[in-house]
Amino acid sequence: MPLLRIVHYPEPVLLTVGKPVSGDDFGSDLARTVDDMFETMYAAGGVGLAAPQVGLSQRFFVMDVPDEEGKADKLTFINPEIIRVEGEQTGDEGCLSFPGLYQTVRRDMRVIVKALDVAGKEFELDLEGLAARCVLHETDHCDGIVFLDRMTILKREMAKRKIKRLQKTGKWE
Ligand SMILES: [Zn+2]
Repeated sequence: MPLLRIVHYPEPVLLTVGKPVSGDDFGSDLARTVDDMFETMYAAGGVGLAAPQVGLSQRFFVMDVPDEEGKADKLTFINPEIIRVEGEQTGDEGCLSFPGLYQTVRRDMRVIVKALDVAGKEFELDLEGLAARCVLHETDHCDGIVFLDRMTILKREMAKRKIKRLQKTGKWE
């Protein structure tokens, strides 16, 4: 199966609010896209990948944050909705659309999220820590928000300077 091309900031699709997935969109094409996204995410060494990151302006993402025993936990979130948040966490974050850039981002510690799975069935999850961070990061992508927007002004300026440097050296396309 061919891997999908991951688009890099500042590709406009990353800064555009994704269209909700409608009832007609469910089916084998969507299932195949989801499979391709998982493969692309694993190949790139990520734990989450949203549709806009592969050039699709739609509201869905895949994620696999392994549990404490390192067991895979493949989840697909279609039309994700953050129901409730609690607490706070601060930690380093990366993004496959920002290759080589890691920056401290403050996020909620716990989220309750509602979404549809690839079969169109609704589910709700209560997640903490890295999984919560990932859900918030990927739901942001669905809304055209990138992690740069979640940094403090100082960190954002530092990050933008680093991106410019990487672009000049051809390490960012
Ligand atoms: Zn990202």
